[in-house]
Amino acid sequence: MLSVEEALAQILSRVRPLGTEQVDVLSALGRVLAEPIVARRELPPWPNSSMDGYAVRAEDTRPGGAALAVVGRVIAGDMPARILRAGEAMRIFTGAPLPEGADAVVPQEDVATDGDTVTIRGRIAHGAYVRPAGEDVRAGDIVVSPGQVAGAAEVGLLATLGYARVRVHRRPRVAILSTGNELAELGTVPGPGQIPNTNTYSLMAQTLEAGAEPVSLGVVPDRLEAIIERLGWAGSADVLVSSAGVSVGELDLVRAALQRSGAQLHLWKVSMRPGKPITFGSLDGRPVFGLPGNPVSAMVTFELFVRPALRRMLGCAVVARPRVVARALAPIANRGARRGYLRVGLSRDAEGYGARLTGDQGSGILRSMVLADGLAVVAPDTEISAGGPVEVIVLRGLEPRATDTTGR
Ligand code: AMP
Ligand code: MG
Repeated sequence: MLSVEEALAQILSRVRPLGTEQVDVLSALGRVLAEPIVARRELPPWPNSSMDGYAVRAEDTRPGGAALAVVGRVIAGDMPARILRAGEAMRIFTGAPLPEGADAVVPQEDVATDGDTVTIRGRIAHGAYVRPAGEDVRAGDIVVSPGQVAGAAEVGLLATLGYARVRVHRRPRVAILSTGNELAELGTVPGPGQIPNTNTYSLMAQTLEAGAEPVSLGVVPDRLEAIIERLGWAGSADVLVSSAGVSVGELDLVRAALQRSGAQLHLWKVSMRPGKPITFGSLDGRPVFGLPGNPVSAMVTFELFVRPALRRMLGCAVVARPRVVARALAPIANRGARRGYLRVGLSRDAEGYGARLTGDQGSGILRSMVLADGLAVVAPDTEISAGGPVEVIVLRGLEPRATDTTGR
């Protein structure tokens, strides 16, 4: 049996970043940058004032106070009309360029004015309330490296640096297929013996969350020819993900269908719970994943194997989720010979993160997945007692929840 790490290493060794495309700056939000963002200019471009006040020469100020002649005024958007000489001050506003000769700003609340004279109390330090040229970025600096996901701050920086368009990695198109005679499509009433189709939707949502584009191939019954035909619908998709029908039962036909379609497959037993064997392979050079059918097993195996592959195809520098070491708030037990990925809620207090199981850990219990902030990674046959450390893969940010049944 492979470890999760061994299986993931095999998958990642077989996927590569996709090509790139140019998008306008706002559309870069959430996309992975494919070019370094280089400062084409200095920011700020010239020294400027961080306060409304008076631009002065620090050396003109005295501990006992100094009266300076006000020789002009400069507002944001203008350039100073002249240089500043000894014994002079210039009225200045936040963001306005400092006149040549000045090297400090005195906030207006710290001065006394009388006609064209301003009295500065005390000695002013060189550089006070001045934002030097290039304090944010210097021309030629690489401000964001390729492989980073652009957030709102990156979008703002791109605009500041004059990038109207930027090169990002193409999003993988992911074809999602659900297999099973028992599945009733959303919008239809499940017939006798049928259950609602969950996986198409959870897997498409996980695909979107990973930054990729899902395409549904719908539901196909457990018939070899039907599955083969439906796999053909994947068309130009970059990745294929199916759920169910991958164990060793009579109606587990996904592997046979993939092979008949020309795929080269590996079937792995991976030492994890939830999650039965998963199938991974390639079909016409594209990665294919056959995930287990139970809704939580499908989601957890997507999380551990498909998501990192999609992140790699997206060109992400880091494909893994963050992990934290939390404190078990109540015992967390993993009975059985496989490593557990247990659904936990996370909370924060003065001592750090706390983790608590969200409920029944059955592989069909989506409810406890809904409540989970992360997956606790627990060794086989191990019980972590209350207060003990537990490693948690963080699946989402710790936003307060309106309904909270986890006792946080
Ligand atoms: P299988 O791997 O085909 O044996 O399926 C395992 C379990 O997952 C069975 O109870 C199936 O009914 C269930 N299952 C399979 N596919 C889906 C799906 N798309 N939505 C919800 N449950 C599913
Ligand atoms: Mg089945």
